[in-house]
Amino acid sequence: MNPNEMSVQYVKGVGEKKAQILKKLGIETVYDLVHYFPRSYLDLTNQVKISDIVPETVCCFRATVGFDCVGSRVNSGMVIYKTTVFDETGTVHITIFNNKYLADSLKTGEEYLFYGKVSYQYGSFQMNTPIVEKPESGSTMKPVYPLTSGITSNMLSIIMKNGLKLYFDSNSPDIIPGEIRHRYSLCHEHFALKSIHFPQSSHDVDLARKRLIFEELLTLQTGMRLLKDRDRGKTAHTVKKDVSKEFISSLPFTLTSAQQRVIDECIADMKNEKPMNRLVQGDVGSGKTVVAAALIYLMAKNNIQSAFMAPTEILAAQHYETLSKLMEGTGACFELLTGSVTAKKKKEIKERLKNGESHFVVGTHALLTEDTEFASLGLVITDEQHRFGVKQRGSLAFKGNSPHTLVMSATPIPRTLSLIIYGDLDLSIIDELPKGRQKISTYAVDESYHKRLYAFIKKHLDMSYQAYIVCPLVDENETTELTAATEYAKELSEKEFKDYSVGILHGKMKPKEKEKIMKDFSENKVQLLVSTTVIEVGVDVPNAVIMVIENAERFGLSQLHQLRGRVGRGTAKSHCVLVCSSKGENAKARMEIMCRTNDGFKIADKDLELRGPGDFFGKRQHGLPELKIADFTENMDIVRHTKIASETIFREDPKLKKEKHKPLLERARKLFSDKNKLSLN
Ligand code: ADP
Ligand code: MG
Repeated sequence: MNPNEMSVQYVKGVGEKKAQILKKLGIETVYDLVHYFPRSYLDLTNQVKISDIVPETVCCFRATVGFDCVGSRVNSGMVIYKTTVFDETGTVHITIFNNKYLADSLKTGEEYLFYGKVSYQYGSFQMNTPIVEKPESGSTMKPVYPLTSGITSNMLSIIMKNGLKLYFDSNSPDIIPGEIRHRYSLCHEHFALKSIHFPQSSHDVDLARKRLIFEELLTLQTGMRLLKDRDRGKTAHTVKKDVSKEFISSLPFTLTSAQQRVIDECIADMKNEKPMNRLVQGDVGSGKTVVAAALIYLMAKNNIQSAFMAPTEILAAQHYETLSKLMEGTGACFELLTGSVTAKKKKEIKERLKNGESHFVVGTHALLTEDTEFASLGLVITDEQHRFGVKQRGSLAFKGNSPHTLVMSATPIPRTLSLIIYGDLDLSIIDELPKGRQKISTYAVDESYHKRLYAFIKKHLDMSYQAYIVCPLVDENETTELTAATEYAKELSEKEFKDYSVGILHGKMKPKEKEKIMKDFSENKVQLLVSTTVIEVGVDVPNAVIMVIENAERFGLSQLHQLRGRVGRGTAKSHCVLVCSSKGENAKARMEIMCRTNDGFKIADKDLELRGPGDFFGKRQHGLPELKIADFTENMDIVRHTKIASETIFREDPKLKKEKHKPLLERARKLFSDKNKLSLN
């Protein structure tokens, strides 16, 4: 039987009861068991003499048991065992709580290794429930697993030994093909698994980890690639004539060469029978909308309909307005479909989309995917991509229609990372801003500047401009963050800004309330908007010229850049003030980068360098499968290697049909099928 599916209950030493306990650790099959990796290792090589023990530190020493453990029951029903151990330099008093097994295993007069924290109390060394090893056990590295009640480290070790035997006996081939193992000096799967659980040395562990991380990342990239290549049917909407030039020459400005390149890349895709599946990444203000407009125009002239999906009603309305202006005089007929459209109008709009009278529609995701029918929908554009994970992306393609899909993201992500996060999409990057953009002046100040800062804001509000204040992040806890934001807004509106209209925006508000406050803000009925980070996603109020970010040191650079992008959208000079209370070097360095550059891609690279890729993977719903051993923060080198390795494999065998690639194919399917419901067939 395939050990990937064989229940862990077949492993010697695991009965029904233990199987239930193992399930709590996420272990259900033999495969799960042998891939349940230690969290860390105890190093038993570094042994000290008892007289050299430094109290309150973790140490390892070799000592002889002085007398049999004596047990006594205490009030709570717990049994406490005590003994004393010694070497030629001193003694340590050992106390064992409620662990008869461990107490009984200590034999008077015999030597053991003791590992743990030693304290110095009442004039002698004390140690509570140490980890005990026989000196001759050969191993100098003892794995530490995350455990749960009902299973001890020793039990798991025995089960693991038996599980590995079963797994090895099943004789399935290594999932990393021989030539790739060779090229990247990777050890064999069996050696890796044996060494990660029963290492002979720390060198073994290093070899094992390298191989297992490689394996996991290779599987991930293979899965993403399969997702990208999956058969999405042929599209009926192949572009025949490229008339984008007429549209482009009618624009009041010249496209940047980056915009032109991206349009060309998309058109090349849309000339194919295989539907386009592309991501356009471009910094805030890089002009993504006009790229979308050119494609929509092109489709309309080919009698193909397009849908443009925005995450919120406000954004949909904004896009509709922008696109209307850009499309003026082209004869294209288009619609705005949002929740606030009356039922009667909705019906009419849907009718026109169904009979093909309208060329394109702008709306929210929900409205367009629900029940809207099209005469010939050939292009679906989704804005603000980072709100959708891999999972959702799969569902964006409309049923049975195989339209071309384009997603647009304003979140610059370092290239190495986008290769993973967006590995299932083709990538186009607009890495150039239109000429003549004014830089948003950015300053970093400390809290002592608040008074001056408020005065600065008031001065601008008095000139009928508007401002944002992003509230301090309190901690991970949403409720406290919320209270803090609400209280801060209240305080500002009652004191400093009592003569102005202050609004608040936070994530816990109902969508309708949010829309209302944003509408008020965009109409300048609200002058100062106090907000949590929810404004990060694409609102466009050109009259807002100041962005204040409290506790700026708590944010990732890319997030700060996104927030800053909410200002500088009009013709007036804009400012971003980062209030930073930290004096730390890293915080200072990060604020300095923000003050120095407005280039989102440069900032993303720096962010990656200074904070690791956590921010790019963290809160964003990237929807990637969970990894067991690889860590993007620490394993970027291996990420790059597996990227190349996976390209090599697919070049040689695009459908992974060869015998040597079958295990990898199977593993990739498994990784993606478990929780992600992404079918890779
Ligand atoms: P984003 O990429 O953030 O969505 P937009 O598409 O909203 O950016 O464009 C921002 C502004 O820049 C718009 O007012 C748009 O008309 C203008 N714009 C776009 N491309 C150019 C260009 N090549 N030259 C000058 N202005 C441009
Ligand atoms: Mg935009």
